[in-house]
Amino acid sequence: MTAAERARREGVGEGMHSRGGALRGQPEHVLVIGAGLGGLRTVEQLRASGYEGRISLVGEELHPPYDRPPLSKQLLAGAWEPERIVLREPEKLDELGVRYYLGVPAVALRPGEVELSDGSTLHADAIVIATGVVARRLPGQPERVHTLRTLDDALALRAALEQARSLLVIGGGFIGAEVASTAKDRGLEVTVLEALAVPFSRALGDEVGAMCGRLATEAGITLRTAARLEGFLEPDGDGAVAVELADGTRFSADVAIVGVGGTPQLDWLADTGLDVRNGLVCDASGRVRGLPGVWAVGDVAAWENVEHGRPHRSEHWANAGDQAAVVAAAIAVADAPPPAVPYFWSDQFGLKIQLIGRPELADATLPLHGDGLSGGDVKGTVVGYLAGDRLVAVAGFGAARRVARYRALLGNGADRTAAQEFARSLG
Ligand code: FAD
Ligand code: NAP
Repeated sequence: MTAAERARREGVGEGMHSRGGALRGQPEHVLVIGAGLGGLRTVEQLRASGYEGRISLVGEELHPPYDRPPLSKQLLAGAWEPERIVLREPEKLDELGVRYYLGVPAVALRPGEVELSDGSTLHADAIVIATGVVARRLPGQPERVHTLRTLDDALALRAALEQARSLLVIGGGFIGAEVASTAKDRGLEVTVLEALAVPFSRALGDEVGAMCGRLATEAGITLRTAARLEGFLEPDGDGAVAVELADGTRFSADVAIVGVGGTPQLDWLADTGLDVRNGLVCDASGRVRGLPGVWAVGDVAAWENVEHGRPHRSEHWANAGDQAAVVAAAIAVADAPPPAVPYFWSDQFGLKIQLIGRPELADATLPLHGDGLSGGDVKGTVVGYLAGDRLVAVAGFGAARRVARYRALLGNGADRTAAQEFARSLG
């Protein structure tokens, strides 16, 4: 390994910017595993919360922390290059006094210590796990069929799309819809095969999910719902990838991508004896149950939900930062941030789709603006979600300014009448 590679892989922040010891009550050394969004926000929030001890950040990828949302959007479109998505250059980690280890995944966790893939061991009195998820692959999925989770995945898919005329997308969730949208904009013929009868019905409910489906078909996507994939076939000359559904229908295309969800990859915690098949079960402040001194944030973390009491993983950008702020404050013995209202967005077919709140609690929808719910233009439509009489979430399509106005209303626990009056006041 060259000196430059080593410097990139193993930052020297601690030596260059040594800080005083931790304040009373704070741990001496915080070790953050996972140098993605949640890991980076944790180290930033630790310093912002007044933590003065040592911080180490360990990442599996060699890249400095980068932002994933542009991977399926601007980067895949060719509008942005990888430099633009870097969240913090290594020298900026130095400025925070963070010692970083890139390209060396954690391979084992024991009380107070983590072993890395190069055989070294790091000791810490607080450990934060922010290792995200990996893209799930389907049984029998050929190597040439893409998935999308990392920068390297996105660059490989982009290169493939540059040579292709058609794209087959298996899974019509967030990855599938965003990649379909970007590929359509690039001029490809796109087919999406989605297992659910209504796309996004799990995330947004049937009525709002149906609007997402309309957006795709109105943009010229061939969308096949309730699709049961039987398997991948040998290409028949019409395209490089071919699949068959359970009803015998076959599809082929030059390029294919599978976007069927993410899976926490926590084999390295095998020695702990915890059941980690659906992530790390945490209390409502991010402490991992069964592992004293260990916290978890982001896509990998199943925090106990204060509303319904069950562990719940949220795989969205805002959640990683919100949880990092809570965990950092707890470790730094600082005041906890105010409770965050969940939020995500997705860019599809020329519209920004936004969701604030907890639609999973809802039993009914409430049209607030626009007439997309009744078959009209999807653009400008804003829909409320009600649990009984209480407004618990708001979804908007190409209506960013209006959606933002509902955030305070959701935080205040408004009811149906208040939501309708508010909608009228916005005109
Ligand atoms: P990640 O950002 O995945 O970071 C985890 C890091 O941990 C990775 O770098 C990984 O290499 C590393 N790691 C894994 N195992 C180990 C190990 N053993 N040791 C050390 N390091 C390890 N959300 C939205 O709200 N809106 C969007 O528009 C949106 N678009 C997205 C587009 C794409 C293509 C993807 C993939 C995600 C998108 N998301 C979006 C979701 C959002 O990016 C994630 O919720 C967010 O990145 C989660 O942060 P995280 O830190 O939990 O995980
Ligand atoms: P996802 O949003 O869970 O969507 C996967 C979809 O594929 C689901 O609708 C799923 O249906 C369907 N599916 C599963 N198996 C299938 C099969 N064999 N054939 C056809 N369809 C199948 O997961 P994703 O789109 O892969 O995204 C991965 C992660 O990235 C998620 O965490 C997501 O939140 C995140 N992400 C977020 C954004 C955003 O917030 N804008 C953007 C991109 C990625 P079932 O539900 O029935 O399994």
